[in-house]
Amino acid sequence: MSPHAVNTLICGAGPAGLALACALHDRGLTVCVLEQADEATLAAPADDGREIALTHRSRRLLEDMGLWQRLPDIAPLRRASVRSSGSRQPLPFEAVGQDLGWLVSNHHLRAAAWAGVRERGVTVLCGRSVVGLARSGAVARLHTRCGELHEAALVVAADSRFSALRRLAGIGARHQDFGRSALLVPLAHEREHEGLAQECFLEGHTLALLPKTGRRSSAVWTVANAALPGIAAMDDAALAAAIARAAGHRLGAMQVAGARHVYPLVAVWAERFVAPRFALIGDAAVGMHPVTAHGYNLGLYGIQALARRLSPSVDAGQPAPLLAYEAEHRRAAGPMYAGTNALVRFFTDDRAPVLALRRAVIDIARHLPPLRAAITRRLVDAA
Ligand SMILES: Cc1cc2nc3c(=O)[nH]c(=O)nc-3n(C[C@H](O)[C@H](O)[C@H](O)COP(=O)(O)OP(=O)(O)OC[C@H]3O[C@@H](n4cnc5c(N)ncnc54)[C@H](O)[C@@H]3O)c2cc1C
Repeated sequence: MSPHAVNTLICGAGPAGLALACALHDRGLTVCVLEQADEATLAAPADDGREIALTHRSRRLLEDMGLWQRLPDIAPLRRASVRSSGSRQPLPFEAVGQDLGWLVSNHHLRAAAWAGVRERGVTVLCGRSVVGLARSGAVARLHTRCGELHEAALVVAADSRFSALRRLAGIGARHQDFGRSALLVPLAHEREHEGLAQECFLEGHTLALLPKTGRRSSAVWTVANAALPGIAAMDDAALAAAIARAAGHRLGAMQVAGARHVYPLVAVWAERFVAPRFALIGDAAVGMHPVTAHGYNLGLYGIQALARRLSPSVDAGQPAPLLAYEAEHRRAAGPMYAGTNALVRFFTDDRAPVLALRRAVIDIARHLPPLRAAITRRLVDAA
């Protein structure tokens, strides 16, 4: 039995930290979350432009926590297609008899997770910026900028891919800066998207169109950082016309239907996911490039892997469950992380031979249904 009033302290009330708090509470643990933002920001998170594609497994995990049921505007992802500039036809993906996944706005996920912790009565201390970590014997302690000291058997860092707590724990991380940024643009358009997500790898830039509910989509336009000021300077009409052109006018005329957001693309892989009385979760463990839409999905899988190893009857900071969590999560996340980075390199290298190879790969894959079925199974992740 843990001698602590709180078994687990979580630093960060993002979608990963809050979902972990729900999962641990449901297993009977006593949890406290420390978050630097204020309560009003967490209760009504601002739209940050991100549309999060969720797999079948993530849906089940969110349903088990009662969070899925709180999500508004869930857009089914029925089909996907991948094009490379110059390829004859797009490469289609479709899961027979079921959706490939679902798209949900990140701020809705955050609001649902916040409502989930509120409903459970989990303690969330807002306006607490964590600045220190100390561990000795059976105790881990967090220090906040406002001078508070909190202690528990286990501390979990869920404080983003640029995690300060990871550094304080002495855990290094490999950062891969792609030298590109994603410009997110909400769009309204003339034609139905029919649940089709389009990924277009064009020379010098990539464009993804993600279906939202109604005749709305989110454009994710990935460009070299040097090209960003030119695009940012476009007015809404010019930007919508440029996106419609790049997408081959498949959705008809487009209008920008909200604020734009920019995210520099940096992937992060922590050298270890655990240390004595300490674990990393969410983007603090693995920060993915968004092209394969797996960052939060992996975050949820990690939460499941950690939560199922903890219970109120054992010391939550013992090495055995933490090491087992680390082994499982590295096995799940490693191939996805390496595969995504390799895919990005291959599809953003515009040297002539690579461009030709990419067209050939797409054309060949179109004629290999078993390969497409295997990739679709991976996308659906229905295991
Ligand atoms: C453009 C884009 C598109 C994406 N698309 C997808 C997708 O389709 N599918 C998918 O699965 N994933 C996607 N992702 C990834 C997904 O958004 C992230 O994996 C997820 O939001 C990470 O959540 P998190 O809780 O780990 O971190 P964050 O959301 O970064 O939250 C971290 C929290 O910690 C708090 N914090 C930080 N430091 C401190 C401190 N010192 N003290 C106290 N609190 C602190 C912050 O205030 C914040 O609330 C996308 C990401 C981007 C950028």
